[in-house]
Amino acid sequence: MIIPKEPKLTNEQYEEIVSIVEEYGCRIQPIEGHHRTIYAVLGEERETIMVNRILGFDYVDRFDAVDSPFKLMDAHSELAHHKIKIGDHIVGESPFIIAGHCTIDPKNPNMFLESAHAVKEAGAKAIRGGVWKPRTMPYSFQGDDSSIQILMDAKAQTGLPVDTEVMDEHQLKLAVEAGVDILQIGARNALNYSLLKQVGQQTADKQIAVLLKRSMGMGPINEFIAASEYIAAGGNPDIMLCPRGTSPTMDGYRNYPDECITPLLKEKTWAPVIVDPSHSVGRAKYVPSAAMAAMAYGADGVIVESHCDPKKGIGDDPKQSITPDVLKKLIDDINQIWEIRKHYRKEMVVTA
Ligand code: PEP
Ligand code: MN
Repeated sequence: MIIPKEPKLTNEQYEEIVSIVEEYGCRIQPIEGHHRTIYAVLGEERETIMVNRILGFDYVDRFDAVDSPFKLMDAHSELAHHKIKIGDHIVGESPFIIAGHCTIDPKNPNMFLESAHAVKEAGAKAIRGGVWKPRTMPYSFQGDDSSIQILMDAKAQTGLPVDTEVMDEHQLKLAVEAGVDILQIGARNALNYSLLKQVGQQTADKQIAVLLKRSMGMGPINEFIAASEYIAAGGNPDIMLCPRGTSPTMDGYRNYPDECITPLLKEKTWAPVIVDPSHSVGRAKYVPSAAMAAMAYGADGVIVESHCDPKKGIGDDPKQSITPDVLKKLIDDINQIWEIRKHYRKEMVVTA
């Protein structure tokens, strides 16, 4: 829909617009109102170059697309009823809790295995463990290929699906070959479109889900959903969206908590929302409240850093991991919130 600056396009302007849209197989249908005329574009109106050419004219005020830009991820797309199965859990049917270390310490595999058993005992449905880590400083521990085996041992011993972050094609290949169930795309790579395409292609039809974090710099909700569209267009629609806090930070928290975008995401896309309170607030003591807030907002679950002895952890674990005891209490509370939420089913866009 083209909205001109003046109440009506001149004949010359109209002809100019018509000739452009015709290049893209579209037509113009003027809609005449009392005071203004607006111009509907009939055909594939999402053609970016066509839209940019029209927006380049000084006499055009706005171009409002009527069709959703998301062919696969839109709440009303043909995937609207798509369900994601991870292990024996169908995401959206009950709270999906992913828990475990920020980072696996390859020198202390038993500690990770101990935490894996403990988070299972606490009620987690999947285990997280960072094999490779995006670190602000190049001198910090970056993770280690050998930790993938420790992660897979945790899967074999607990029978739970496992989650780890991949940042490049080498890590992607190793994780897919090893049998990782959930590939995490971190905040720093949420806008790495070539990686997102690769992830979609390399995980298509392999029963591997993708947990896409929201980048710390992402503003518009559509930018987040568009990133997920890359993975779906690559061939894998098993995508969960993960708000994890944005910057600039809220003084006192690691990031600016953003679990409140959950209802907005759920209006626009069918994708489940799994919130990460650990990176959002960044301190163990705030994590339970942030996790409960996320569930109250309608999240399908949370991904929480949890460690049986946080002070012995590496990466983020010493400052933001909660212990399995706290996790157990949190999961009980989350289950209660899930029940309470059902009272609001009509008002809230929740999947349960
Ligand atoms: C993590 O999950 O440990 C992590 C690095 O997350 P993010 O990409 O959200 O910073
Ligand atoms: Mn972390």
